Amino acid sequence: MSNLDVKPAATECGGRDGVSGAPVRDLLAPRTVPLGESTVVRRLLPNLGRRMVGAWCFVDHYGPDDIATEPGMQVPPHPHIGLQTVSWLHEGEVLHRDSLGSEQTVRPRELGLMTSGRAIAHSEESPRDHARYLHGAQLWVALPDAHRHTAPAFEHHPRLPEITGGGGLHATVVLGELDGAASPGTTYTPIVGADLTLAPGTAARLPVQPDFEYAVLAMSGEAEVDGVRLAPGSMLYLGCGRRALPISADVSSSVMLLGGEPFEERLVMWWNFVGRSADDIARAREEWTNGTLFGEVHGYDGERLAAPELPPVPLKPRGRAR
Ligand code: MN
Repeated sequence: MSNLDVKPAATECGGRDGVSGAPVRDLLAPRTVPLGESTVVRRLLPNLGRRMVGAWCFVDHYGPDDIATEPGMQVPPHPHIGLQTVSWLHEGEVLHRDSLGSEQTVRPRELGLMTSGRAIAHSEESPRDHARYLHGAQLWVALPDAHRHTAPAFEHHPRLPEITGGGGLHATVVLGELDGAASPGTTYTPIVGADLTLAPGTAARLPVQPDFEYAVLAMSGEAEVDGVRLAPGSMLYLGCGRRALPISADVSSSVMLLGGEPFEERLVMWWNFVGRSADDIARAREEWTNGTLFGEVHGYDGERLAAPELPPVPLKPRGRAR
């Protein structure tokens, strides 16, 4: 998915000053962002006061939307640098095409993982014949400096490890590692993304790592995480320092656990780019507008996205806090 803001704000993020070393329960409200003509998404990251959770730097939740008589998701070709995108669906399907020539329909509970590395372009659309409901999350992972110029790649993993915990909790490991089970998706930092399904009456304690920071994105139902009731489309930031996370639900519910080692490098995020400097961003924008670096996406019925104007104030990553 693309950031379709016409005037996207620059976000400076990374470093440790926003990281809570101790457990906290910080409820983040979503910001509603229009995506195309018929869709809105709820943006949880970046959020006022919270920009990253581990290497996770962008979190959108969308649906469930009834798109029976709608085109659904229609995101024209657009570029990325410096990140990975994770497509995760509960309902519906998304057709991914990219400048490597990939063409892949991603279905519910399958991982679509795109590593932009130095440069990639892609489009995402609901196929012409699509399911009635579309419900999912679009997530970005920042690449560390040592790997941000890596070759672009697209991975599709229809089978992912599952953990049946006690107390009614069932987990699918989408990315990274949870409780000894590892996703086949390529990662570049210590990270976890897991989809947690909670049966009615769930009362569980999920083992987690004290050196990771975590957040939980509520997908459906009425989960309670560490005593906080979560409405779908909201996110609870949990900080670091936990060995177990209490999760319960009276009714059938689902949440995504997002976590990782705090991301210490300073970043500049603007539009669909993650860089280290204003120059990185300006160069990427120039390449998308006039260059050939990103390549072509073939097969999308429509024009590619034009880059917005750069903001008038130079983009700067913030200095390291320690
Ligand atoms: Mn995208």
